[in-house]
Amino acid sequence: MLNNPALIPSLFKEGDKRMAYVGRFAPSPTGPLHFGSLITAVASYCDARAHHGQWLVRIEDTDIPRIYPGSENHILACLDAFQFEMDADIIFQKNRLDIYDAIIDQLHQKHQVYACQCTRKMLGSNHIYTGTCLNLNLSFEQKAIRVKVPDQNICFKDRLQGIHSSNLQQDLGDFVLKRRDGIMNYQLAVVVDDYLQGITHVVRGADLLDNTERQIWLGSLLGYPTLQYMHLPLAMNAQGQKLSKQNLAQAIDLNRAPELLQQAIHALHQPHVDLDTPKHMLKQAIAQWDIQQIPHTIELQGTYL
Ligand code: GLU
Repeated sequence: MLNNPALIPSLFKEGDKRMAYVGRFAPSPTGPLHFGSLITAVASYCDARAHHGQWLVRIEDTDIPRIYPGSENHILACLDAFQFEMDADIIFQKNRLDIYDAIIDQLHQKHQVYACQCTRKMLGSNHIYTGTCLNLNLSFEQKAIRVKVPDQNICFKDRLQGIHSSNLQQDLGDFVLKRRDGIMNYQLAVVVDDYLQGITHVVRGADLLDNTERQIWLGSLLGYPTLQYMHLPLAMNAQGQKLSKQNLAQAIDLNRAPELLQQAIHALHQPHVDLDTPKHMLKQAIAQWDIQQIPHTIELQGTYL
């Protein structure tokens, strides 16, 4: 099935023995790292290390048109400046497209995906796909590839957000795994790589909460083990806007790593850490890590937007 074993990271090759906790940070290089993504990196790192787990980094760069020049280098420089220690080499999704294609083939053989020629305009304003192309048996050439979803509630318990559920058919419809222009959708790549990297725990921003049922569904179709999820509250400015690349959140200033790290730990309502080298500060944060303290909303004063 996977026709290029060299692309499968070493953690997976060891007889598929899964570890108790493998976490990850999976930024997309669609803009430089901002304070909101630093909070995610810090929380995923501290949570993994506090559980004596491993921590991996994956660059999610399949959406080529959205890649922002230089942002990948900025992300890598930040990981370095903040002295995060990784347990395996960073993987880049753009080098793994044949893996995702092989998985789509696998789903095709099980009749779980189909080609769709609908344009965005044809989908209507509520964006719920009603299965127009489901029985047309179209060839996969230059079409979007959709996966079938069930008319049933998919439910999971998030470690911070509690119970969350969605009926994918009613809320969304069969969703796209690969776009008509050949770009691999985030949903498939994230599920496949979480599995191949042996990830057990996902810690990420709450903006991705609504994607989780899609990912759980895909994982279950592929027979992958279920993951634990923790969706962090989004960092907001005083005007209640979320920090995001779209809002032009300020790029992390590498020269201020200790100070920004202290602020990120503070934003997560963790006990105080002393200004020191990032390595020592992270060590202190890990020793004191307590997810009960993470606030429902993270409000930041002024300087980050
Ligand atoms: N690549 C996604 C982002 O930067 C995060 C994916 C994930 O953590 O599942 O928003």
